[in-house]
Amino acid sequence: MDFPATRLRRLRSTAAMRSLVRETHLPPGALIYPLFLCEGEGVRREVSSMPGVFNLSIDEAVKEAEACAALGLGGLLLFGIPDEKDEVGSGAYAAGGIVQRGLRAIKAIRAAESLVVIADVCLCEYTSHGHCGVVARDGDHYEIENDSSVALLAKTAASLAEAGADIVAPSDMMDGRIAAIRQALDEAGKPSTPILSYASKFASAFYGPFREAAGSAPQFGDRRTYQMDGANLREAMREIAQDIAEGADMLLMKPAMPYLDVIREARNRFDLPMGAYQVSGEYAMLNAAFERGWLEPERAMLESLLSIRRAGADFIVTYFAKDAAALL
Ligand SMILES: [Zn+2]
Repeated sequence: MDFPATRLRRLRSTAAMRSLVRETHLPPGALIYPLFLCEGEGVRREVSSMPGVFNLSIDEAVKEAEACAALGLGGLLLFGIPDEKDEVGSGAYAAGGIVQRGLRAIKAIRAAESLVVIADVCLCEYTSHGHCGVVARDGDHYEIENDSSVALLAKTAASLAEAGADIVAPSDMMDGRIAAIRQALDEAGKPSTPILSYASKFASAFYGPFREAAGSAPQFGDRRTYQMDGANLREAMREIAQDIAEGADMLLMKPAMPYLDVIREARNRFDLPMGAYQVSGEYAMLNAAFERGWLEPERAMLESLLSIRRAGADFIVTYFAKDAAALL
């Protein structure tokens, strides 16, 4: 039936009416907060391009975990900033690595019981060259080796699970890493640890501020030989299907806002729990507009998160997690 019998504005008349017919919701439990762990004590070093985001020593990260639990967040995603880096990213899979120690400290506090503690699995924060895998050099030519990188990533995942990670989340984009990680987890006596795969991670300009936060900018070249071309949606679906076949338990889409169509397509095709990562550049872009008074912070933040949920993400990794939860 058409107008005037049908008047869609009838259901927008009051806040109570709008609330009743709202299709998409944003519970604090759907938000995951990233933490960047660094060495030292009492360290809270703000990332200049990400206002409100800090490099935290483990003692400070524990306080942050308590605050996140009190806000009802769903979980944390841990990244490490080691003091020492080398060619093969040894710090990523050292039993005494920064994230391994952080996991033990956070998992020891009571508040952590309500949080899912996820450990990012990659080498780029730990390699001297800043790439996500092992670099083979031949004169001017270099290549990011796939299979030798996968072996180190699998070792990293097992080490993080042993240190207490509730979920391991590989973000490297090497081929075959999910199967290798599953096998390494099972062999390490961690058959119950799920894998959250960054299955279709795009080579994006929006990761810039993160690289400052994590000190992981590549020293040469770029990541286009392993991360995906932003133009390719069908290839993203192939990446996801392959990771599921290899044993992924959950999916993480990255970035979020410039790739909402990819999230929607993945939601339509696959039934695994799926999250999306509202990345550093999305956060920095919004914050820059907030600082200039060009956007209303609270409304724009919540609208950005709601759009990611509406596109089909069950949960969202976001630097706004605490601010959003405080409003919800
Ligand atoms: Zn990486």
